[in-house]
Amino acid sequence: MAIAPASSTSQSPGALVSPLLLAAAGGASLLLRQLFDADTGTFTYLLADGGTGAGVLIDPVFEQHNRDLALIRELGIGLVASLDTHAHADHVTGSWLMHQATGCAIGLAAAARAENVTRPLAHGDRIRFGSRELEVRATPGHTDGCLSFVLDDRSAAFTGDALLVRGCGRCDFQQGDARTLYHSITGQLLSLPDACLLYPGHDYVGRTLSSVAEEKAFNARLGGGANERDFVIFMETMKLPHPGRLAEALPANMRCGKPRERQAGAAAAPPSWAPVQRSYAGLPELRPAWVAEHRQTLTLLDVRTAEEFYGPDGHVPGSQLIPLPELEARIGEIPLGRPVVVLCHSGSRSALGTQHLQKAGLSQVANLHGGLRAWEAEGFPIERATPSPA
Ligand code: FE
Repeated sequence: MAIAPASSTSQSPGALVSPLLLAAAGGASLLLRQLFDADTGTFTYLLADGGTGAGVLIDPVFEQHNRDLALIRELGIGLVASLDTHAHADHVTGSWLMHQATGCAIGLAAAARAENVTRPLAHGDRIRFGSRELEVRATPGHTDGCLSFVLDDRSAAFTGDALLVRGCGRCDFQQGDARTLYHSITGQLLSLPDACLLYPGHDYVGRTLSSVAEEKAFNARLGGGANERDFVIFMETMKLPHPGRLAEALPANMRCGKPRERQAGAAAAPPSWAPVQRSYAGLPELRPAWVAEHRQTLTLLDVRTAEEFYGPDGHVPGSQLIPLPELEARIGEIPLGRPVVVLCHSGSRSALGTQHLQKAGLSQVANLHGGLRAWEAEGFPIERATPSPA
């Protein structure tokens, strides 16, 4: 089964290829980003076709949704699907949140029997994104619904918890079975070309990827000529603590990360006062058009120098000037009870100003995306009086 781009995707793949995405892909036909959740040691992978901007996300983490979405938006990727390699026991997936945000499909093994899956997957399916494809391979044994995703040219495989760097996922719960896992790893993963890079679902000590040749030689459980019996006895003798978040994670993952009613919106809802978007750099930002439309209800705080404010670049009519170096000392001059939008020439100094105000306890504060340059480029008014600042 091939997965076509979701029709409700907010950015239609192919329609909006960002020059930035092409540059980020380095002229190659594939962009690949490895993201990390330090709390759970989970890797998330973002892949996109450099030609069309269509992409897929593998194993997103619920708490990292805003980070992942910011990167997808900044690179102009039209997300086709959010895929999970399995129903995780140690973290909650961000797939449902990503589906809500972008309209992408939610892909998970049909064998996992989870709710809210829009693209149930099985061995042999192909997930198309632009001109590229992932081949779905069933690699059960850690759970009975584990999948690995193999890139079309077999240069890379995303193995989830079936095969980790020098290790593999546990087999002692969630229908795990060491014999099954041995045959999944040897038959479906280590049979790939030696140079095929292996991208794991987790690592806890900083190892980010491996290769088929390396794991055949050095995997601590089945490399270096170990046979099925060696592997099974190893796995069945391991005594691992129960995953700490199992009680929370597994039920949530059986809904593909959809929060229960009472939790809905708790994790990733934007602030109610404005359509604030968090940048990949982690900053709350507002677009010039929204700020222009609502500026009567906002304090526009310009943190440039007085020379710039009153000079040829001009300033936004009605904006308040407090230069960045003076912000800490003069924070009391900012009117209470109104949201604050911080701006400067390009959005960089104001980013620091925004962080200062957040640290000082202001909750309704955001940076003007692109600064005065973007404001003027979009045709919003600039005042260019030239009185002495003194
Ligand atoms: Fe797992």
